[in-house]
Amino acid sequence: TFTGCSKSEDVIVMGTNATFPPFEEIQGNEIVGFDVDISKIIAEKLGKTLKVEDMEFNQLLGAVASGKVDFVAAGMTVDEERAKQVDFSDNYFASKQVIIVKEDNDNIVEAEDLVDKKVGVQLGTTGDIFVSGYTSEENGGTIEVIQFDKGALAVAELSLGKIDAVVLDEEPAKKIVANYEGVKIIEAPFINENYALAVKKGNTELLEDINEILAEIQADGTYDALCEKYFGK
Ligand code: GLN
Repeated sequence: TFTGCSKSEDVIVMGTNATFPPFEEIQGNEIVGFDVDISKIIAEKLGKTLKVEDMEFNQLLGAVASGKVDFVAAGMTVDEERAKQVDFSDNYFASKQVIIVKEDNDNIVEAEDLVDKKVGVQLGTTGDIFVSGYTSEENGGTIEVIQFDKGALAVAELSLGKIDAVVLDEEPAKKIVANYEGVKIIEAPFINENYALAVKKGNTELLEDINEILAEIQADGTYDALCEKYFGK
């Protein structure tokens, strides 16, 4: 029997949502970024070829749970609900959520100020979960949440004055804000988070390999070089 002409390769599939610079974004025909580089290193160290599957952020947990992808690398924040569906690796990046407003807006300085305002988020992210569940302690008010497929679309709407604020992860927020006129990030302390990679529940073999590789790249300076490359720090 013929099996075709392509040699079977040992492939490992990473799932991501390439709308999250500088962790993952599309440049030309390629998906590039911090998470992609880390994933390439993982694949290489495991002797495999990396295949990247780009999908909506809120499809990622299902994709890893069903085995469509082997692991997720998507600036994904570790959270209890998600940990019921997937197993998280060790943390590989400390992050936080920030609020973005129009440059001339001095009225919004903390979460409480978002009550009764139109706030853009990326669908299914921790920013979305936070503002969607937010209830003001003072008056019981809530936030009017507008969900977008990409953080950049939310910032575009803000820049046009159609919404009052956007809540996004800090590093992507910095990259995205630089592309739009008249918007700024509020330097208020907000929610702190940690990113980790995710594997299918019970896939301890891959999880242990990943944790070992993360420790290796931290010890040998590879991680620092990636920080320099993508964040200049
Ligand atoms: N860190 C956020 C989360 O996990 C956003 C991730 C993303 O949009 N790629 O929900």
